[in-house]
Amino acid sequence: MSSLALTSVTSPTERREQLKAVYEQAKGCTRCPLHQTRTTVVFGSGNADADLMFVGEAPGANEDKQGVPFVGQAGKLLTKLLNEIGLDRGEVFICNTVKCRPPNNRDPHPNEIQSCNEYLRRQVELIQPTVICTLGNFSTKLLRGDNTGISRLHGQAEVRTIGARAIRLYPLYHPAAALYTPSNLEVLRADFQRIPELLALGPPEQPAVEDAEVPEPADAPAEATATPDLEEPDEPESGVEASPELETVQLGLF
Ligand code: URA
Repeated sequence: MSSLALTSVTSPTERREQLKAVYEQAKGCTRCPLHQTRTTVVFGSGNADADLMFVGEAPGANEDKQGVPFVGQAGKLLTKLLNEIGLDRGEVFICNTVKCRPPNNRDPHPNEIQSCNEYLRRQVELIQPTVICTLGNFSTKLLRGDNTGISRLHGQAEVRTIGARAIRLYPLYHPAAALYTPSNLEVLRADFQRIPELLALGPPEQPAVEDAEVPEPADAPAEATATPDLEEPDEPESGVEASPELETVQLGLF
C-alpha cells in the first residue's frame, strides 16, 4: 500500500503533521522526469487548515528558486485579488497541479500530472477545504476529470468529490491570463468577488465513506526523510536564490 494512503485523521494538528509528512516525501520525489531539472519541490504554502484552497498549474522560474508557489507576477495579482476580498495569503492554501517546474515553463505533460496527482489528493484530504479554486485549464480539467475548458466553466461553482472529500469546486481563469488582458482581469475579479458567498455556504454534505473515491494505490516515493523543525520565518523576497533554508521557509508557511 502507498505510504501516502488514506488514514482516518481528524484534528487539525494531526492533519497538519500528516501534511508535513507528505511534504517530506514530496521533497525527495523522483516519480517523473521533472525531478531531474527542478531546483526545489514547490509543495504549497499557507494555512494547513484553510477553508479556501487554490490550485494553479506548475511552478515557474521564481517559484522553483524560492520553493513557494505564485511568487512572480501572476502571484502578485493573486495576492491582490485575495486582498480585495479581505483575505491574506496566509489564510488560504496555495499549490499547483504539478509540484516541480517544467523546463522552460512548458506545459506539464500528462504523465507528470498523473505522477503528481496523489500529492494533490492528499493535500485536499488533509487540508479539508470547503472551496477549491482551480486556476486555469490544467487544474480544472484534472479535478473535474473531464476536458471542458476554463472559458466555459469559470465562475460556476459545483460540488465535486475529490478523494474522500466533497468540496465546492470553483474554476477561475489563471491570473497569468489576466496579467496583460484587461477583459480577462475584469472577469477574474468579478469571479473572485463571489468567493466569500461560496465560503459562507460552508462545506457541502460529505459522501458516506463507502461512496468516496479512493485514489489508486501507488508506490511510495523514493526518499522520505525525517520531519523537520517548524519555524515561522518571514516570507522570502522575490528573486532570492535557492538555499537549504528555503525548505524551512516553505514549510514554515503552513
Ligand atoms: N503559475 C502557476 O500556475 N503556479 C505558480 O506557482 C506560478 C505561476
